[in-house]
Amino acid sequence: MKKNKLQKNNYQNLPNETGFFGEYGGQFVPPQLKKALEEVAAAYEVAKKDPVFQREYKTLLADYVGRPSALFFAKNLTEKLGGAKIYLKREDLNHTGAHKINHCLGEALLAKKMGKKKLLAETGAGQHGVALATAAALMGLECEIHMGAIDVAKQHPNVLRMKMLGAKVVTVNSGGRCLKDAVDSAFGAYLSDYENTFFGIGSVVGPHPYPMMVRDFQSVVGREAREQILLKENKLPDYLVACVGGGSNAMGLFHAFLNDEKVQMIGVEPAGKSFKPGDHAATLTLGKPGTLHGMFTYLLQDEQGNPLSVHSIASGLDYPGVGPQHSYLKDKERVKYTTANDKEALAAFLMLSKVEGIIPALESAHAIAHAVKLAPTLSKEKVIIVNLSGRGDKDVDYVGELLGIS
Ligand SMILES: *Cc1c(COP(=O)(O)O)cnc(C)c1O
Repeated sequence: MKKNKLQKNNYQNLPNETGFFGEYGGQFVPPQLKKALEEVAAAYEVAKKDPVFQREYKTLLADYVGRPSALFFAKNLTEKLGGAKIYLKREDLNHTGAHKINHCLGEALLAKKMGKKKLLAETGAGQHGVALATAAALMGLECEIHMGAIDVAKQHPNVLRMKMLGAKVVTVNSGGRCLKDAVDSAFGAYLSDYENTFFGIGSVVGPHPYPMMVRDFQSVVGREAREQILLKENKLPDYLVACVGGGSNAMGLFHAFLNDEKVQMIGVEPAGKSFKPGDHAATLTLGKPGTLHGMFTYLLQDEQGNPLSVHSIASGLDYPGVGPQHSYLKDKERVKYTTANDKEALAAFLMLSKVEGIIPALESAHAIAHAVKLAPTLSKEKVIIVNLSGRGDKDVDYVGELLGIS
């Protein structure tokens, strides 16, 4: 019976040709949009195998973004917590301050290859809008960013950044005037001009090929971390920890390790103010499968299937859906999903700032908050890598207000 070994799951060869990760993903869009998406998918398949495209992309990551990003042993934090060793993957050191630039450059480069003139996208807090406007400026493309009126007022510095980078910011006054309405508005604009326009989605969400394509562009994070930890520790990590909004920084870190059975992975969702509907954005923890923004995935929804309103102290995490690959990995129990609430994230934000001299983004602080809980339960030989998805510069005014510091 020697031959009778269990067939191992290969988690790295998904989605299938129609964009499904198991039952999740797909392309749930109107027929006209389907045509535009097929064009993007076909162009991406070519680019993926094109050594010229890949070389250009790698050169940009190196010389413009500043990759590889460092893998930093957080010795002070490790000693303070008294358990497993904590390493931080420093996506906060990237140009524009977060992981988002990794896939925005990929999308912009593809748009250019496809002969498109304009990049179009939605943004919530403006972080994705700024990263995409940056890529557009670099590549000489026009850029149009749709943003809810409430977010425009709240995130004024990012609106100014986008404008200085040459982007047009469209204020969305429909619905709740937040991220979901901005997505609807941007989809509408895309439908009316997809011949000239490339839709640059901000995470591993939306219809096929976006969840796959954005994951592929982000997977450089995990490939680097794998090499770096093997050099530093001479073994693979025991745990990977990342925050999950749409799920791109988490997929970016996880992808290269998915077939390493012994590496445990934890996605951290925002538990917000409470677990009452509207107070959190813990989609995988409390949601049910449904359809939103062209994909079948876990959603926070009401009885009619309408997305619920969501909240997190970190505006980059407040999305009622999640990337379909995460839904699949949750059902397969390959990745474990847990939560950190606003208070825990804020405490982790302050702890990392004071102990390591690194001010994290409030989004990333959710991942740190989980590491703070996990590390003391593990022995000192164990190794945790936390994805520090972005820096906290954008959050200091807001946190100062919360703490009453001026
Ligand atoms: C946008 C953002 C996130 C959330 O997006 P994912 O797609 O879940 O990674 C996390 N961290 C930072 C710093 C962000 O800007």
